[in-house]
Amino acid sequence: MSKKAFRCKNIYTALLQELVDGYVVCEDDKIVFVGDETDAGAFIDDNTEVFRFDDNFLMPGFNDFHVHLITGALMEHDGVLRYANTEEEAAEMLWQKNKDRSGDRWILGGAWDNFKWPEAANPTKRSLDKYFPDTPVFLLNKECHGAWANSEALRRFDITKDTPDPEHGSFFRFEDGDPTGYVHEAAVIPLLKGILETMSPEDMASYAKSFSKTANSYGITAVGDLPLYGIRADASYKLLEERGELNIRIFFALAFMEEMEDIFKAREEYTSEKLAFIGVKDFLDGTPMGHTGFMIEPYMDMPDFRSESMIEPEFLKNRVAEMSGEDIKVRLHACGDGAVRLALDAFEYANEKHAGKDLRHCVEHIEATTPQDMERFGKLGVIASVQPDHLPKYDFEHHPFHTMIGDDRMQYSWPFKTIADAGGRLALGTDYPVTELNPMRGVFRAVTRLTDEGEPEGGFSPKERLSAHEALRAYTYGSAYAAGKDDKLGTLEPGKFADIAVFEKNILDCAANREEMFGMKTLMTIVGGKVVYKR
Ligand SMILES: [Zn+2]
Repeated sequence: MSKKAFRCKNIYTALLQELVDGYVVCEDDKIVFVGDETDAGAFIDDNTEVFRFDDNFLMPGFNDFHVHLITGALMEHDGVLRYANTEEEAAEMLWQKNKDRSGDRWILGGAWDNFKWPEAANPTKRSLDKYFPDTPVFLLNKECHGAWANSEALRRFDITKDTPDPEHGSFFRFEDGDPTGYVHEAAVIPLLKGILETMSPEDMASYAKSFSKTANSYGITAVGDLPLYGIRADASYKLLEERGELNIRIFFALAFMEEMEDIFKAREEYTSEKLAFIGVKDFLDGTPMGHTGFMIEPYMDMPDFRSESMIEPEFLKNRVAEMSGEDIKVRLHACGDGAVRLALDAFEYANEKHAGKDLRHCVEHIEATTPQDMERFGKLGVIASVQPDHLPKYDFEHHPFHTMIGDDRMQYSWPFKTIADAGGRLALGTDYPVTELNPMRGVFRAVTRLTDEGEPEGGFSPKERLSAHEALRAYTYGSAYAAGKDDKLGTLEPGKFADIAVFEKNILDCAANREEMFGMKTLMTIVGGKVVYKR
């Protein structure tokens, strides 16, 4: 038996706001004791390995409830271009990162953000061709709704002047009809899938492994992995688990429209403590920012338009009810207030059909909603899965919501506190790679509702700010609850798995301090009693 004890003056259990000055003791993969020094003695002997973090901060590991693991991992591995200020700079950054690489493998970085570039212009293959004349390059943008390809990539997919645009997607073109290399929406999917098909589960597993290393370095011990474009990576996660190399818990969902047979198969196959199938997910709408969020009332700058649901409401209701009957958790992406209402209506219908079941369905994102609907989360037992780092991060004054949905509706954007106060449960996450994986960013944003420049004064809709305790609890216990793992994870108490993160500073004290939070050092991360990261 392996025994470890962690001494710390600031132990945050996620049960209460009050910190414990004492010890957490683990035997093998479980916690056996949390409490003060006097009582700890009975649990510590000569065979106990003792770690001292006296003045630091020890808490349950973060559980990021909304990541797109494999897509993010692919991006991260070959080059994250989030901070490039021009197209040229992005191309050069990618070259710097990949110039010494050999072999005929796709380069798949991404997270580029042309809204930061002059005139927000979409990039073209020409800038990439200069650096990568022969290697295929395919770079998803920050939202993963568009991609930037070079000529070699287009050549391999045989995309030419004569290739027609698919439904709901397009290949942007120069005046003569030649594809520019910018690929939009539905046109991205077959290309990305085609590239991933060239990879073996071993290749994918190495990406997943590098993701878990990064996640562990931020104190993350579990993630909710959501599908994107129907890409499945569970076989590669399983490979890591079989090799004993899975250092993070992955609770993954499949697509809502996946065949029932495949869903049942996944549910049967993935039931371990490290790797489990936990439900299905789909998009009800896009986002108000792209005028694709489904709104109850029209957009202010498009007075006849409120977009629409991607799933027909009657079908949605019945499918959600069917899933509920099988005890499968459903997670619906809903950014516009109309989509949020539709999701809640479908969940309400499922509740009526299956009264008494503990369903724990989720609405994802909630960029806009109404006061009436905020009240419904608690009543219906629906979880609000939210990602605070989606809140405005810079230039609040010019945030597009002011003119797209107007300040009246905007005040109800990302309404964490009202939902929680009305009895709704929150599960926090990042939506990585759409935002960064570092959980300190989300905690800071949830607590302050400020941009990086500290705007607006007092925070955006300040009544929606969470306390540091509420944010940390939602990011640990809240996510564990949403995954149906709250009996084993999410708090520090005897009997639970020893999933622990130690940080340099007391987060309850500095959650509103941007510099301290963004620069927070992780000292140690433990998953199931095993040290997986050490500074
Ligand atoms: Zn997402």
